[in-house]
Amino acid sequence: MQRRALFFLLGLGACTSSSAAPSPTTTTSAAAPPSSTAAPLPAEPKGPSQALREEVRRSSRAYETVRSLVDAAGPRLAGSPGSHAAVAWGLRTLREAGLDDVRAEPVKVPHWERGEESGAIVAPSPHPLALAALGGSVGTGGKALEAEVILAESLAAIDTLDPAKVKGKIVFYDVRMERRRDGSGYGEAVGVRGAGASRAAKLGAVAVVIRSIGTDHARTPHTGGMRYDAALPKIPAAALSIPDAELLRRLIDAGEPVRLRLSLGAKTLPDAEGANVIGDLRGSRVPSQIVLLGAHLDSWDLGHGAIDDGAGCAVVIESLRQIARLPERPARTLRVVLFANEENGLAGAKTYAKTHAAEIDGHVLALEADFGAARAFETRFLGAPSARPAFHALSALVRPLGIEPSDGEAEGGADLTPLMALGVPVMDLRQDGTAYFDIHHTANDTMEQIDKVELDQVTAAFATVAHAAASGDADFGRIPEEERTRR
Ligand SMILES: [Zn+2]
Repeated sequence: MQRRALFFLLGLGACTSSSAAPSPTTTTSAAAPPSSTAAPLPAEPKGPSQALREEVRRSSRAYETVRSLVDAAGPRLAGSPGSHAAVAWGLRTLREAGLDDVRAEPVKVPHWERGEESGAIVAPSPHPLALAALGGSVGTGGKALEAEVILAESLAAIDTLDPAKVKGKIVFYDVRMERRRDGSGYGEAVGVRGAGASRAAKLGAVAVVIRSIGTDHARTPHTGGMRYDAALPKIPAAALSIPDAELLRRLIDAGEPVRLRLSLGAKTLPDAEGANVIGDLRGSRVPSQIVLLGAHLDSWDLGHGAIDDGAGCAVVIESLRQIARLPERPARTLRVVLFANEENGLAGAKTYAKTHAAEIDGHVLALEADFGAARAFETRFLGAPSARPAFHALSALVRPLGIEPSDGEAEGGADLTPLMALGVPVMDLRQDGTAYFDIHHTANDTMEQIDKVELDQVTAAFATVAHAAASGDADFGRIPEEERTRR
């Protein structure tokens, strides 16, 4: 019943099912044959979602939207002047996109500043280091910290070291991230960034440096969030560029004692005011049902925040701008949320889930764009198992973009975790992450990393899925209880 209703509303026709979804060849064959004395071929069933998909590819302004954010706000770490400029930009841009009830909802955010920083290998031979403090790290107290280095090849390995050997030293975590299309190497490696400092402090270390969580060989360190265990001393933590980490490792392997000097000006200021920027396209028939499109407005401080997550902001804004221009409004409400402070603690996402607690049951589906600007290749879903046909119907609409459905469980996006914990179903439009972690959280996160054609493909996919999910009455259910607690 649900499935038939969805197909009807999507304009897919009764013959379309997940196994007989239109392929790129069949969809383009709708064009008239070159010599047509014979009767024209029957037209491919085309609904408004399919038409929107093509229109977005033709006329997307997503690229211009990222550029305007980057140029107006620059780096926009929570609490920074850029973060305030980004909120103003978000309000202006959502209004220009034709959304209703555009507002900034206050969020208390952590306020961390990098300050001046430098580092060097001082023995056995001198080498300057390209490094970046991890977000949230303490500094070195206005002076240089110098100590011998001890190697840990993983987070687990630190616990096997003799505390007497770690005491007074700088721990170097040399954890390699694997390059993969789906970016899964990141999740496997990133734990050391978040927890490495406290695990080392427990054994008496005075600081940690990590091999950047990245896949490039550029001399650009990758920053990222870290957290302290409140029961342990807070020690400084920094990422080394990968070539510097390789150099350090060679010197350690050569066997002579290696000494580092670190000077980090990082400090945490009192919490600051931030905001989630939100705009709706109010549903024409069931406005209390919400399809949420999320991205995060903040970025790290080192680059311009173009791929992380200016691109995601542009994808969701352009999706709704295009839908707002259609003659008919979808039945359900479409909502853009530009979250505050994804990078340094998810304060925006947590606050959204609290502020909108009364509406959570009305959130029928959520998607987040937070994986750069490269093309999407796969869809995934996590919600009620009975809703898979509805998921496949949405997926069929983006197959002409070269995007295939997967049986894997969707992961949502970091900003969707609080909603997922409450059962809100999510759909992923997974983007190609092969090159993403060459740039992620580095000074090289600039407009030059964005390919307009690929960004437009992702935008077309988000717009199409959002439009169809909001136009139909498919019930995506809730994430089963046992799946929620795993997150
Ligand atoms: Zn991000």
